[in-house]
Formats: sequence, structure tokens, C-alpha cells
Amino acid sequence: MSFDSLGLKAELLHAVGEQGYTRPTPIQERAIPFVMAGRDVMASAQTGTGKTAAFTLPLLHRLSEQPHHQRQPRALILTPTRELAAQVNENLRAYGRHIKLRSLEIFGGVNINPQITKLQRGVDVLVATPGRLIDHMQRGTVDLSRIEFLVLDEADRMLDMGFRPAIERIVKVLPKKRQTLLFSATFSKEITQLAQSYLENPERVETSPPNSTVEAIAQQAFRVDQKDKREVLSWLIGSNNWQQVLVFTRTKHGANRLARQLETDGLPAAAIHGNKSQGARTKALSEFKKSRIRVLVATDIAARGLDIDQLPHVVNYDIPNVPEDYVHRIGRTGRAGRDGLAVSLVAGSEHGLFEDIRKLVRVDIPTYGVEGYEPTEPLSREAGKTPARRGRGNGGGRGNGNRGGGRGARNSAGQKSARGGGRGRNRGQQSRAA
Ligand code: AMP
Repeated sequence: MSFDSLGLKAELLHAVGEQGYTRPTPIQERAIPFVMAGRDVMASAQTGTGKTAAFTLPLLHRLSEQPHHQRQPRALILTPTRELAAQVNENLRAYGRHIKLRSLEIFGGVNINPQITKLQRGVDVLVATPGRLIDHMQRGTVDLSRIEFLVLDEADRMLDMGFRPAIERIVKVLPKKRQTLLFSATFSKEITQLAQSYLENPERVETSPPNSTVEAIAQQAFRVDQKDKREVLSWLIGSNNWQQVLVFTRTKHGANRLARQLETDGLPAAAIHGNKSQGARTKALSEFKKSRIRVLVATDIAARGLDIDQLPHVVNYDIPNVPEDYVHRIGRTGRAGRDGLAVSLVAGSEHGLFEDIRKLVRVDIPTYGVEGYEPTEPLSREAGKTPARRGRGNGGGRGNGNRGGGRGARNSAGQKSARGGGRGRNRGQQSRAA
């Protein structure tokens, strides 16, 4: 199927061609016709599936079909994070470059005044995070009474982040007669309830079974003790010569600390999380995209909405507490059909969490050990189960360098010597550990 058969106007097809897209992704193929027909749509789609274009393209088409010369916004796209808002607006600008529509992103953490000025000048499409939008509503600087389209993007994440009351407040002031689209990586009970409250007789579009992980992504796990994770990570990055790695930690503090330690290991790294200013986050992301930073350490929330082309490696440094977060995290790699590798470092205390993830994704994730870093921690739940050892001949987690401790070096002295001898030497080697 080609883009031409979707009924999108020539200006949009032109822009799509300029983006280098040759055919619609499955979510685009299925969702765009419904949106074009004016239907409400509830779609399950992970990041990386092309979901943004699945709603922005038909939205731009419909808005430009019925031009209205009004100052008030006609479409509202709600996103959980500022990064995603910026990303969606970037797509709107790219796809809408040959049609005359004005879009604006609105999020917190930056000066509100330029947003107010732009709103006064007139905007067609507003992309907003709920908190800042409510701020504008309270100040009377935004008028949502002419909204014809509402998009709830990454609705599951908005609920996770506690935005339900905010969303309710916003939807209350919107016209009842409108077209509403809801996108979510997973369809939980809460999401279905949300859809029932805000959508009218929606078409349901599911492109991959809910909670299944994108097929292009290879997944692997390494069983290591918590205290060894940093060294194992440095070694994996170095020995495999990974140049662009997104690493997830559970806490902001953990992200900062890990980024600092990786720098000490000679790996250019930066942390992004909610406590960082927007400027710092944008800078880190741009350095990462330009490959000046090799490792970006992020918390789940900060990583939402990051769009990095061809991101080859994602590492779960901490296993997420919520199994669905695993799906979101690894969705950062293998985007739009490209190959990706997602590696999880699983400590004994995280064993139970990781088992839950395995059940959710229904994929048998191979688990390896790393020689010299044999785990000593007991496994949470199912304690006593022998951890999987290196599963893959020569390559399964071992570089060529002598990593100090060697096999069976389970005591602390062994760990120490591994620590002392392992690093620098392994960096830059091209062995295929993972
Ligand atoms: P999304 O799932 O919306 O975050 O999109 C993931 C990536 O896929 C983005 O980098 C898009 O630019 C890209 N993309 C979207 N649609 C297509 C398409 N039809 N063909 C190729 N790439 C696409």
C-alpha cells in the first residue's frame, strides 16, 4: 500500500516524500482512513511504530480542508511530557510545511510569556502538556472553545503520571462536538474507561497484540549483582564498541551518579531527568544525536517522547517496577522497522520483576552471565533457582581481555581484581558480547 491511496492532499504527500517515507506503517495504514472519515479512534501503538504521523497527517488534512480564519486553536494534542510535545510539533511542522497552518507547543519549565504572545497571534494546532495548559486556562490566555479535534497521545503514560484530573478539567471546557483520538501503548482498564468517557463509538485499531514488544528488537538479559552493574555496563559498551546507548535508571539520583561514573570510565555521558532544566535536557539530547555524547542516562519519564533515529542500543540498568515501562523503554530502539538491541542488567533482587516482564512480553529473553562477575545475590521470588550462565559460546558476555577475577571469582577479592583490571583494556574491542 502506498501513501497515495490514503486520500491525503498533495501538499502532505509531498512533505511525506521529503521525509523519505515510501509507504505507510501498519498503524498509519489502519488509522488514517478512520481519522479521514471523521471517526473517533482508539489505537494501541508503541513509540516507533509511526503513530505520530498516523494522527498528525489526517489531522492536518482535515484542518486544511476546512480553512477557518480564526485565532483560537482548532486542534488540541495532549502529551505527557515536554519532549513528546516538542517532538509532535516537530512532526506537525515537517508534514505541514506546504500548507498554511500554525502549530504551537506549550509545556512547563520554560517562560510562559512567549507562549502567551504566540497564542494571541493565533494558532491552529496546539500541542500541550496538561499542567501548563491548565496554567494558561487559569490565566485566561488560551481559548479552547473552538476545538474540533482532540488527541490524547500516550494516554497510558498520562494516567501513570497522574494527569487524569487535569485531563478531565481540560476536556470539560472543550466542545462536545469534536473528533477525539486516543493513542496508548497498552490498553489497560483505565485506558478503556478513559476512552468510554471521551470518545464516541470509537474505531479500535490494534496493530500489534497489546504489550507485545516490537519484533525488530533483539532482547537479552545479563544476571549480575547490583554492585557490578556499572562495570558490566562500561564493559559492554566498550567491548562491543556501542556508540549510542540509551540507559535507563529508576531514579534521578541514580541517573546523575551513573552518568558521572561512566564519564570517569572514559565514556562521554549525560543524564536527563525531570529535575534538569529544559535547556539542559535539550542540550544533552542534541549532543547525543550528534554523537558527542555516547551514553544518555535517563529516567522513564524523561525518556518519553525522545525521538532518536536509529537508536541501536537500549540498556535497562535498573529493571522497571512497572512491566509496561519495559515495553516503553525498549520501544526507543528498533524504531520504524530498524534493528535494535535491548539489554537488561538483572540483579538478584530484580529477578521477580524481570519474570513479570517476561510474562508480559511473551518473549523468551535469553539470559547470560558475565565471566568475572558471577552473581552472588540471592534471587528475589523463586529464590534458589540457579541463574543462567553464559548461553552463547564464546560471545555470550565476554570480551577478549582478561577480566581479572575470571571464572569462579565470586568472593569480594575476585570482584575487586576484576574491577581493577577489567575496564580500559576492554574498551574499543569489537567482540560480539551482546
Ligand atoms: P513515532 O512512532 O511516531 O514516534 O515514529 C517513529 C519514527 O518513524 C519517527 O522517526 C518517524 O519519523 C518515522 N516514521 C513515521 N512514519 C514513517 C513511515 N511511513 N516510513 C518510515 N518512517 C516513518
